[in-house]
Amino acid sequence: MKLCFASNNEHKLTEVQAMLGDAFEIVSLSQIHVTEDIPETADTIEANSAQKANYIFDKFKISCFADDTGLEVQALHNEPGVYSARYAGPDRDNEANMALVLQKLAGKSDRSARFKTVITLVTEAGQRQFTGIVEGAITEGPQGEQGFGYDPIFQPKGYDKTFAQMSGREKNEISHRGIAFRKLVSYLQSL
Ligand code: IMP
Repeated sequence: MKLCFASNNEHKLTEVQAMLGDAFEIVSLSQIHVTEDIPETADTIEANSAQKANYIFDKFKISCFADDTGLEVQALHNEPGVYSARYAGPDRDNEANMALVLQKLAGKSDRSARFKTVITLVTEAGQRQFTGIVEGAITEGPQGEQGFGYDPIFQPKGYDKTFAQMSGREKNEISHRGIAFRKLVSYLQSL
C-alpha cells in the first residue's frame, strides 16, 4: 500500500518507514511533487493535523497521513499548543520559544505540561486520528543538548532528566510522537 506522509521531514519519514516494513511504501510530499505550502491555519492540534491530511487527500487523491504536535503548559492555559513552532515569533526560533515559556512561568508553582501529537490518516475509508500524549513538567532552565524544540526544558513524568538529556531511542520509547506513530502502525498492520 502506498501512503503519503504529509511532511518533508526526512528523519520522521525514515523512522515511520522502518516501523512499517515493506508492506507499506511511504512517500514524502516532494516525492509526489507537492512543493506548495500545506495550509495549517486551524486553532487546535487535532484540526491542524486533519487539515493537512485532508488537503493532500482531496487535492492529489492519495491515501495519506499528517502529524501535528504541540506543547501544552497547564499554567499558561495550554499555550503554546498549536502555536508551538512560532510561539515567540515567525522565525521558529527554539531558543526564543523556550525563553518565552520560562519567562511566562516565572513565579508559578504549577509547572506541569504535556506534549501532544495527533496523526490523521485519510483513505477512501474515511478519516482516523491517533493521539500520543506524554505528561511532564517544565524545568527551571534548559538542560541537555539532544533533540530539538522544547526538549531541553521538558522533563517527562517519572524521569529525572529532560528529553534533551535522553538518546533518540530512549525518547522515542516514551514520547508523544512515538506513542502516536506506534498506534498508527499497529492500525495499518491490522488492515
Ligand atoms: P510539528 O507539528 O512536529 O512540526 O511540531 C511543532 C512544534 O512543536 C515544533 O516546531 C517544536 O517547537 C515543537 N515540538 C514538536 N515535537 C517536539 C518534540 O518532540 N520535542 C520538543 N519540541 C517539539
